[in-house]
Amino acid sequence: MATGADVAGQIDEIARRWTDDRAERQARRHLERADFDELREAGLLTLPVPTDRGGCWVSNEASARALFGVYRRLAGADASVALVSSMHPAVIGYWLMSGGGGDWADQRHAVFAGALAGEQWATITSEPGSGGDISRTVATATPDDDHGFLPGRSYGVSGLKHFGSGSGIADRMITTAIPDGEDAPALFVLDASDRRWDGSSGFELVAEWDGVAMKATQSHGMRLERAPAVRAAWDGPLDELTRAASPLIATIFTSVVLGVLDAALAEARPRIAARADSLRPYEQVEWTRAERDHWLAVQAWEGAVRAVEQADLPVAIHAALRAKQSIADLAEDTMRRLTRVLGGGTLSARAPFAHWFEDVRALGFLRPPWAFADDILFATSFDVES
Ligand SMILES: Cc1cc2nc3c(=O)[nH]c(=O)nc-3n(C[C@H](O)[C@H](O)[C@H](O)COP(=O)(O)OP(=O)(O)OC[C@H]3O[C@@H](n4cnc5c(N)ncnc54)[C@H](O)[C@@H]3O)c2cc1C
Repeated sequence: MATGADVAGQIDEIARRWTDDRAERQARRHLERADFDELREAGLLTLPVPTDRGGCWVSNEASARALFGVYRRLAGADASVALVSSMHPAVIGYWLMSGGGGDWADQRHAVFAGALAGEQWATITSEPGSGGDISRTVATATPDDDHGFLPGRSYGVSGLKHFGSGSGIADRMITTAIPDGEDAPALFVLDASDRRWDGSSGFELVAEWDGVAMKATQSHGMRLERAPAVRAAWDGPLDELTRAASPLIATIFTSVVLGVLDAALAEARPRIAARADSLRPYEQVEWTRAERDHWLAVQAWEGAVRAVEQADLPVAIHAALRAKQSIADLAEDTMRRLTRVLGGGTLSARAPFAHWFEDVRALGFLRPPWAFADDILFATSFDVES
């Protein structure tokens, strides 16, 4: 059975190869299934599956750093593929981070078994107007005939959803909706594999992803109309589930953008070093500050990783979010400084920097996005010691 270290080694090799094709990859506007087959083959989908269910996950302390490192590495080679891939452990995190018995235990085992068998997970939870707060859903869920793809109660989910990264690649996508006759939102798993997007099987493509950042993520907007879904078997409040998984999720996204920043620094360094003697004072300062901000971003990431590794949830929530927001700021600043030193050619779509400049901007909008993240940071700031 492959360990997390075995998988990391294989991903490293794939990332090395993909880096050679970077220019072609950065120009893509769609995902290639072959990339995901290769990652699946390397065991990437098994990283968030517990070892006692046949996967690689031992514990936060033993496994989180390696998991984050894998997505950081992959992002330097292909940011869009890394972001879409990162949704898999982020979403499975809901089942991984909350134990329990009964129906929840049965469903957890089925989720893990599906991932081991090669099912790719993602999420299409965001709704226009919700500001990234998944509990502010206005989608609805109606009890339906047994869909059978996962143990649990079957529903049809209806509503407008956007930013479904990995649409067309993912087999399972999570979402939120309010079940008929209830007033609180619940979590659902959509069966997204091999769906037509013409509305005939629950999914209608209403906004094809045309982002200037994370261009190839296929983060489409969809209208769901009784889309086949199974309800998460968690019988407590949704908030308990989301809180438990939130440090893992935030740090996975942060790792992706830090990986993009690592690649930008690595690419810029020799170019700038080659003309170090002729840099004007302004350029010297901008480079020095870019380097310093990247270093700070790495330290913030280290802080988040250590907080996830330890057991205290409020500390981990606060630290992971603080790092995510800080790195979102630092990454934008670093890219701006690098491009000023490297020159106007960085605006060319043939230069990697034009793509990275936009890609790093995604972090602040990923869950929880700017304003919502600050609400949480303020609300938790007096619960934990800095
Ligand atoms: C690159 C990228 C990938 C992402 N991937 C995913 C993903 O895979 N899954 C996922 O669930 N989310 C994903 N997200 C979404 C993210 O998690 C946040 O939910 C999202 O960025 C929040 O968007 P927003 O700030 O525009 O707020 P939102 O509230 O989502 O959107 C506001 C926008 O909706 C319009 N709007 C339409 N109707 C209304 C209304 N009634 N009230 C107010 N505004 C309305 C407004 O004009 C405004 O432009 C992704 C985001 C990015 C940038």
